[in-house]
Amino acid sequence: MKGLMMEQPLLVASLLMHAERHHADQEVVSRRVEGDLHRYRFADLAKRARRMANALEGLGIRPGDRVGTLAWNGYRHMELYFAASGSGAVLHTINPRLHIDQLAYIVEHADDQVVFFDLGFLPIIEALAARMTKPRLFVAMCDPSHMPASVDSKVSMLCYEDLIEAHVDDYVWPPLDENTASSLCYTSGTTGNPKGVLYSHRSTVLHTYAAALPDALNCSARDTILPVVPMFHVNAWGLPYIACMVGAKLVFPGPALDGKSLYELIESEQVTMSAGVPTVWQGLLSHAAELGRTFSSMRRTVIGGAPCPTAMTVQFQDRHQVEVLHAWGMTELSPVGTVCSLKHHQLSMSADARHAIQAKQGRVVFGIDMKIVDAEGAELPWDGAAVGNLLVRGPWVSRSYYRDETTAALEDGWFATGDVARIDRDGFMQITDRSKDVIKSGGEWISSIDIENVACLHAEVASAVCIGTQHPKWDERPLLLIVRKPGSSLAKEDILAFFDGKLAKWWKPDDVVFVDGFPLGATGKVLKNQLREQFHCHYAP
Ligand code: ADP
Repeated sequence: MKGLMMEQPLLVASLLMHAERHHADQEVVSRRVEGDLHRYRFADLAKRARRMANALEGLGIRPGDRVGTLAWNGYRHMELYFAASGSGAVLHTINPRLHIDQLAYIVEHADDQVVFFDLGFLPIIEALAARMTKPRLFVAMCDPSHMPASVDSKVSMLCYEDLIEAHVDDYVWPPLDENTASSLCYTSGTTGNPKGVLYSHRSTVLHTYAAALPDALNCSARDTILPVVPMFHVNAWGLPYIACMVGAKLVFPGPALDGKSLYELIESEQVTMSAGVPTVWQGLLSHAAELGRTFSSMRRTVIGGAPCPTAMTVQFQDRHQVEVLHAWGMTELSPVGTVCSLKHHQLSMSADARHAIQAKQGRVVFGIDMKIVDAEGAELPWDGAAVGNLLVRGPWVSRSYYRDETTAALEDGWFATGDVARIDRDGFMQITDRSKDVIKSGGEWISSIDIENVACLHAEVASAVCIGTQHPKWDERPLLLIVRKPGSSLAKEDILAFFDGKLAKWWKPDDVVFVDGFPLGATGKVLKNQLREQFHCHYAP
């Protein structure tokens, strides 16, 4: 027998319709590429998104066509999120930090009919246009007075605000099938070509519900959310959709992601929660420390994309009273998989015990199921000790890649994340490594992340990265690379002695190298493969 409830498709446009109807006056504040602060309300956002939907139709964009964006976090990008997906086209967010060869590959592979771009990315657009196998349309996200003057005459370029001006806001969002594709994001792919993850309306709305929950990102109409995590990479972890669902004020930082700009924005707009990768927070914390100031309104920050060192958690929580929500996810998971919010019985634990839990990536949000397996695929126990390959499944996990039927993404209905993890009895998962970063020493595995976490606890360490380096006797041994805090003269012997009693003896790195910084990839993560290449002879006889 079937249930007798309404069959209403889960659609991205319904999030915007909800925001317009129930939170029309809620603000969206954006630092623009032009440098100034722009502010308007959800009602304005909804109107302009409808105008842009009409404009897309006018440009000949049909359901299923890909609409590319090369843009920072801002209101025009947000309008495109809804105009493209809501009208049945596919919003394709492109990561401008990728290499131009990868960008050209992505735009051709996705076959974007049109690419919208922020002015700062004009050089990329010109380089891209020269590499395209067929002419594509480009739209500069600015008003007519800022239209770029010297553009290759062969590139057809339109102005965003002209398009908005030329169209009315009378538009009815079509009642799409909820399994229709809504957006597309390519994984940065440290090896091989990037792979396209194609989200659906249904997966996006379900992810939005789940990610907003109190034990997930914990968002509400009382929040002012600053998504530092870019809208060009996995939809800013879903925050633009979440803000519409819950009616939160949104603050977009544009291109200004340095500690000073973020601090000023957080204070002036009274931001209550934010989200980003650890490298961004490093800059913000250093700036706050230089000023000797703390945060007057910020209460929570979601840290993910790479492991959040305990030292960072302690600094946020103890010095600034900002709760850290350590989260794990991937492009293929829309992206939220787990969030580390404590259970009731953990609240009364000692500070050290709580910090140890917060170093974990946390519990799954309802909808995601996970398990760890050994090399033969046998499931391993949740005892906090066994380490294995992490597999997940759920309605917002991708089952295959866009136009890439050759890559088998699933194993028996599970998605192999490429991460290696342990899970404790309370269901808290802890990533010990990316499978390619695991250090294999004498047939045993050493977690590079555990080593980095200990190093970062040292008061004179600004950041630390551990890599496995070829070793004549043990196959690989850990090598620790450290960026010292300004003014520190920390010596190798001091940091090695610091490990005593904190980790198994044989996990202790064999050597330490002090460096000025680390190479970062397109999503702000340390490129360990580059470091492995650079130091691969370090332990050579
Ligand atoms: P890419 O970096 O390849 O573009 P993603 O942004 O999808 O792709 O990155 C996903 C990967 O990032 C995960 O598989 C995991 O290795 C890593 N990751 C994400 N969050 C965390 C975290 N909190 N701790 C450790 N690793 C993380």
